[in-house]
Amino acid sequence: MEATLERVLGRFGRAGPGQPTLIVVGGIHGNEPAGVAASQRVAQALATRADDLRGEAVFVAGNLQALSQKRRFVDRDLNRAWTAARVAALLEPDAGLRRPSSAEDIEQRDLLVLLDALLAEAPGPVYCLDLHTTSGGGGAFTTVADTLRNRALALEIPVPLVLGLEELVEGTLHDYLGTRGCITLAFESGQHEEPRAVDRAEAGIWVVLGAIGVAPESTVAEVAQARSTLAQEVSRLPRVLEMRYRHAVDPDDAFEMRPGFSNFQPVADGQVVADDRNGPIRVPEAARLLMPLYQTQGQDGFFLVREFSGVWLSLSKVLRRIGFGRFVHWLPGIRLDPRRPDALIVDKRVARFYALQVLHLLGYRRELDDGDRLVVLRQSHRE
Ligand SMILES: [Zn+2]
Repeated sequence: MEATLERVLGRFGRAGPGQPTLIVVGGIHGNEPAGVAASQRVAQALATRADDLRGEAVFVAGNLQALSQKRRFVDRDLNRAWTAARVAALLEPDAGLRRPSSAEDIEQRDLLVLLDALLAEAPGPVYCLDLHTTSGGGGAFTTVADTLRNRALALEIPVPLVLGLEELVEGTLHDYLGTRGCITLAFESGQHEEPRAVDRAEAGIWVVLGAIGVAPESTVAEVAQARSTLAQEVSRLPRVLEMRYRHAVDPDDAFEMRPGFSNFQPVADGQVVADDRNGPIRVPEAARLLMPLYQTQGQDGFFLVREFSGVWLSLSKVLRRIGFGRFVHWLPGIRLDPRRPDALIVDKRVARFYALQVLHLLGYRRELDDGDRLVVLRQSHRE
């Protein structure tokens, strides 16, 4: 990665009234250059064909300083601080003057200004594709903040969709852009260094460009080709999986994943998958492993996922379409948060047996869990 990487890798087409804008972000983690390389490839392909587009495509590089150093981040993870409070603090006019900024404060402020401008200019819907790779191998997948419209976009890409990651990981860029009204999707395209991760990320960009109508499939041949490239990759993995568990890692833990684990590998209840200074780490239930940590930087040791059956997927769609969420606070032990329209407060002494499962179906995710009280939140854009 050359040090002279530009923040905006390319801008193509122009969105007319009601036409879509796609923002592609690559390398928000500096040790994940595949998204940048894939963006550069698509940008090159579009350079002479902007007239074919029905909308706009913008390609953005994420953490420039970390990318040039080939590290996940310099001072802090740039994909964990997109919370409302942090964003507001960074955008204060003299925020940079009052305290010394970390490398990522500078990157995030820069990105915020750019994204704000893109959102303000966009005459139609704005989509965001956030490109990532993982330290373990074993294949590609998508993740979304669980709204129906995010889900629909993710399911256009023929790789497994993992629901519920945002409940366990706070402050991601795509979650933030979701709260700003964008339709968002994160695509994990493979292992950091494998060349196929660039190919898959490139295919993901083409598929999304086609799905949202910026690159009509009839005139842009790459779209159909990309869809079949990705479809060939997916062996017999479930189409949709649900996040079950996150093993959090502290820098002092001396966490070390045992060798040989990969994405979606089945693990048995109690199986030892890693060690830290307290001894062997066993998984709490039978599931599939996701994102085993094989790098020194990172706060997530591994995740566990399980197949989310088509029945639950359809049921949750029906419940949301009929607006069941408007009545959910009639259930025992669940009440509206008087201060926030998208939050519910759950009394676990009353509602513990059904609460989280039912609320997940409606798109609510755990925000705070303190003993008897559970607070759940959903994004305001349900469709
Ligand atoms: Zn990443």
